Amino acid sequence: MKPAEVAWRNRAACRPKHGHVEEIRELHRIFFDSAPHWTEAKKMCAGCPSKGGCLDMALAHDAGTDWEVEKLQGFFGGMNQAERAAELQRRRSGY
Ligand code: SF4
Repeated sequence: MKPAEVAWRNRAACRPKHGHVEEIRELHRIFFDSAPHWTEAKKMCAGCPSKGGCLDMALAHDAGTDWEVEKLQGFFGGMNQAERAAELQRRRSGY
């Protein structure tokens, strides 16, 4: 992992504080299992200092330009998968 990627991850609002199993499960529920509303995830992302880096990472992943694996599932950078697809399209069109 590149240093710049580590830097934003270390400041992430969703970074586990204690690493307890319960905490990890709760974060997973918030960011992966709480669709379609994503209320808690949206709230946490809204105040996250790493939102820009996180969204860029997720969009790069979604676009297949960063990792050659399946598209990210879940909520990243303040957006769910459908919102990120729209954002990716918007960026590709230059707007
Ligand atoms: S923007 Fe949201 S998903 Fe991304 S690091 Fe911050 S809290 Fe986590």
